[in-house]
Amino acid sequence: MKPFHYLTCLLLFSITLAFGQDDKKTPESTEVWEPQPKVVSTGAITTPPSDAIVLFDGKNFNEWESLDGSAPKWTIQDGAFTVAPRSKDIKTKKEFGDIQLHIEWRSPAVTDPTKVSQARGNSGIFLQQRYEVQVLDNYENKTYVNGMVGSMYKQHIPLANACKKPGEWQTYDIIFTAARFAEDGRVMIPAYVTIILNGVLVQNHVAIWGSTQYIGYPQYEKHGKAGIELQDHGNLVSYRNIWVREL
Ligand code: MG
Repeated sequence: MKPFHYLTCLLLFSITLAFGQDDKKTPESTEVWEPQPKVVSTGAITTPPSDAIVLFDGKNFNEWESLDGSAPKWTIQDGAFTVAPRSKDIKTKKEFGDIQLHIEWRSPAVTDPTKVSQARGNSGIFLQQRYEVQVLDNYENKTYVNGMVGSMYKQHIPLANACKKPGEWQTYDIIFTAARFAEDGRVMIPAYVTIILNGVLVQNHVAIWGSTQYIGYPQYEKHGKAGIELQDHGNLVSYRNIWVREL
């Protein structure tokens, strides 16, 4: 080996050795131990986690009100509440920002086969009273796909149709991060949502375009925390086991 090559090899070996002794190159240097996430007990699928805020446990409307602040006119029976058609939406008294929401719902039996598309088991979950996660009976019932169950209404088409039959209880698990606004009202970071319907991912961290609009395009308006609103769309949709974890 020529002297030049010998020296080059020696130099490279020295550098390698030095790197090997650098503590930033150990497995432990990339392990994070603190802070530890808090321990939360989990239960059966119908049991809220220990740190959840229970919004409905089947008994009363303590956590809910009509939009005008009066008591809801919806009905409670067998551990669930049901839309009272044309009594208007209800909302939580508490206001929320970033949340994990669990909510169970049931479409009514199909009594009128002429009622199709958006006229079958229509309700909705308005996050922060603005952004609608559609509730709809899409079991063998087609509608526009950006307005079907699992959609962010008129914004994001679901990745699958995981709708159960009418009369069966269904679950939504929703992870929502609220929009961040500048002082002047500009959107710094849009809201994001992940939605799991009956255990199936239907929205994977999608950016929300603004407040849900039936006609026209969504737009943002600056706002703070707000309630969770459930839609009276004139159909006998029921809800039960509603809980939320603030993030
Ligand atoms: Mg709806």
